[in-house]
Amino acid sequence: MPTFSRRSFFKLLTATAGATLIAQGEETTNTTPHTKNLLPKNEKQTRVVVVGGGMGGLTVAETIKQNDPENKIEVIVLERNAHYFACPMSNTLFADLKELKAMNIAFSFDYTQAEKNHNIDVIITEVINADVAHKTLTTTGGTINYDYVVVAPGIDYNYQKLFPTWDDTKIRRAMKETPAAMYSDSGREKQTLLNQLHEWKAQGGEGYFVIIPPKGGKVRCKPASYERACMVSAYIQKHQLPGKVYLLDNAPKPQAKGPKFIEVFIKYHKESLIFNGMSGAEMEKRIQKAGFTLENFMKKENFSKVEDLFATCDVTDVDFDKKEISFTYADNFDDEGKAQSVNYAIANLIPYHRGNKTAELFDVKRDKWGGIVCAPNKIYSVSDSTLYVAGDIIGYHKFDPAAQTAVSVGMLTGESIARRILKGTDSIDLSKAGITCFSMVADQPLSAIEISKTIKVDDQGVAQAGSSKLDFREGMGLIGWYQAVIETPFKY
Ligand SMILES: Cc1cc2nc3c(=O)[nH]c(=O)nc-3n(C[C@H](O)[C@H](O)[C@H](O)COP(=O)(O)OP(=O)(O)OC[C@H]3O[C@@H](n4cnc5c(N)ncnc54)[C@H](O)[C@@H]3O)c2cc1C
Repeated sequence: MPTFSRRSFFKLLTATAGATLIAQGEETTNTTPHTKNLLPKNEKQTRVVVVGGGMGGLTVAETIKQNDPENKIEVIVLERNAHYFACPMSNTLFADLKELKAMNIAFSFDYTQAEKNHNIDVIITEVINADVAHKTLTTTGGTINYDYVVVAPGIDYNYQKLFPTWDDTKIRRAMKETPAAMYSDSGREKQTLLNQLHEWKAQGGEGYFVIIPPKGGKVRCKPASYERACMVSAYIQKHQLPGKVYLLDNAPKPQAKGPKFIEVFIKYHKESLIFNGMSGAEMEKRIQKAGFTLENFMKKENFSKVEDLFATCDVTDVDFDKKEISFTYADNFDDEGKAQSVNYAIANLIPYHRGNKTAELFDVKRDKWGGIVCAPNKIYSVSDSTLYVAGDIIGYHKFDPAAQTAVSVGMLTGESIARRILKGTDSIDLSKAGITCFSMVADQPLSAIEISKTIKVDDQGVAQAGSSKLDFREGMGLIGWYQAVIETPFKY
């Protein structure tokens, strides 16, 4: 069992029910549509179909059953991959942390325990069409009817927005050679990057491991690129490689947990990490030039002056044959910028994010990002009150796309759906959700940055972050959080 109680994070779990059938399939299914009925409906139960067995979808599915003691609700999860690779904490794989090995931490899960422990069905199939008027989904394995549907497909990448002139061939090269490793693909992209890192080391580890964070907008786990930079830097130090991590960011500070990451870059990664052309020593010099010290520069009023003196690197193109990245380098707030380029040994190019294209199959209102627009104060679509959403795809509300959000809001949603079906009351208190996000930032000593946020709901019924707290934590805190929040839906 996890060393942390999940209850301590959410205080929402109730008892679970019995076991049911197990469905298995290929890692990613083919997309030939079938017209056969995927699973005939049991008329005695109300059917909830969940699209996507990730952090949001699986949490909603399990919580519905935890609140259905008389087994009146049938819950079916449709997931296209037989194995789920958890993103949170996966950046620590880049640092090859001994603690993870010692504690037997897993990142890849199948759905057998979830089915057995929670009396849900997980069918490995891809949803390829949706007819909301007739409450019918088409999948690669057949069609399926529902009474309620929960749409939880996560994110996709938006390379076109980043490089409007790139054609599909160039985008394909980017995905293959410089993978973003930010979405759910059973861990393929992350494995590619890890393989590149290990090959780089075997060849002497010279040059740059370049990381390009998304240029802004709604992003799944904004701190993840900076956490990854710290973990690669820890690997470089551990193996005494001559190379460096090079962050090319269009913002003058990390776009999440900014002052704390700068402090970490200076404290733990001075020689092995470059942020926008600045080493840790250079950043320290600029902080002092602004009249501050390492102790007081993080204060809000001081940091705004410090970041004006920091550089930005706005990436404009990549030449995959020459392994060269072009960018506009601006040395401080007033600088218009000049064209520069850098050659990479490895590049992790992270484009803009967008809502997963699966959401487009459903004829309901979506926002510009691709999120499904919820009704005020609700977690179902403004166009269709039988269509719920979970995880990163939630629109209207201003949640950070993160696993903790997916799980925390997912538990409230699961309870609410069960209550609606069993008791006819349609209520949800989104202010009960809470957000905690950890980033592992060093391995000697194992250290993390934690941000926790409360959720408030405004008078338009929009749920959003309320107060927040940012602090350093021992790295074991992140491992405990991972076991409690991420492993639990798959293992217990
Ligand atoms: C490197 C990294 C680090 C992170 N660290 C943290 C962290 O420390 N803390 C934190 O809170 N969050 C973190 N996150 C974010 C977190 O992983 C996501 O926000 C979370 O997984 C979102 O859950 P979701 O259910 O919306 O999507 P996902 O977990 O991506 O699940 C979506 C599922 O839907 C399936 N799917 C999609 N389309 C279909 C279809 N048509 N048919 C069938 N199945 C489909 C996918 O295969 C996938 O399994 C991190 C993310 C990354 C990439």
